[in-house]
Amino acid sequence: MKNLKIAIASGKGGTGKTTIAVNLYHTLVKQNKQNILLVDCDVEEPNDALFFSDAEVIGETSITHLVPEINIEKCTFCRKCVEYCEYNAITVIPPVKYAEVATDLCHSCGACLYACDFDAITEKPFEIGKMIRYQTQNGAGLTEGRLNVGLAFQTPVIRHVKKVTKNHDGIIIYDAPPGTSCSVVSTIADVDFVILGTEPTPFGLHDLKLAVEVVRNLEKSFGIVINKAHLGDDKIYKYLEEKEIPLLVEIPFQREIAEKYAESQILSNVVDGYEDYYLQMIDNMFKLLN
Ligand code: SF4
Ligand code: SF4
Repeated sequence: MKNLKIAIASGKGGTGKTTIAVNLYHTLVKQNKQNILLVDCDVEEPNDALFFSDAEVIGETSITHLVPEINIEKCTFCRKCVEYCEYNAITVIPPVKYAEVATDLCHSCGACLYACDFDAITEKPFEIGKMIRYQTQNGAGLTEGRLNVGLAFQTPVIRHVKKVTKNHDGIIIYDAPPGTSCSVVSTIADVDFVILGTEPTPFGLHDLKLAVEVVRNLEKSFGIVINKAHLGDDKIYKYLEEKEIPLLVEIPFQREIAEKYAESQILSNVVDGYEDYYLQMIDNMFKLLN
């Protein structure tokens, strides 16, 4: 089987992105494609693992970046480092001989180290998140990036999990963060195909347009999955036709789907006929990739 990278993204949260990611994984694994790896890049709220009740944690590593540390013994409190820091992460108060780096604000750019003429700054590792690996009953498992609470280092955490998993031999499914920020761009930048999840509502269409712009700017092959189909209006269908955007599959709203999702169940296992939508999605995706 050819190596392939697929990202699941959406212009906004709540459009079934996680559902698509875990059910696509499940369906591909069921098709005897054992070397499928799911990577949860929704690092602020990773919840793919909740859908695998049998998943076992097989590894947890700390994700760090280097932050400066000021040696008060060597510091002359000249404040040059404060001027160089674009993130306002350094406070130096000469009269009271105070010099400190706010590690949660530091972007590890290294400018202050360059600025200091007194060799008063060294670097130390600072944990920004974790990478957790799970073994699932079948398939190559799940790798999750998890940002430490209160920090704004989504992209470095995503970059780390992508770097570690990029040489996986098989298919990788990346569950991207919602929205169109740089953390989404860093998730989808190197993939072969992007699946954009949306729903037929005015908000859904608005955010889909933004997501399509990002994906087209990155010149990615992509297709759309409409969740809760036929629940809203038909503007989304007109938009897809007008812009010649391929529709991979539409999944109608069913109360049973919403209920089983709320119970964190793999829907292909518990909702009759649900897997057929995924088989259609996979079929259409491979046609576009060929
Ligand atoms: S540049 Fe160096 S010496 Fe000056 S305040 Fe910063 S750490 Fe201290
Ligand atoms: S490494 Fe960069 S962001 Fe961090 S404190 Fe130094 S200058 Fe500021």
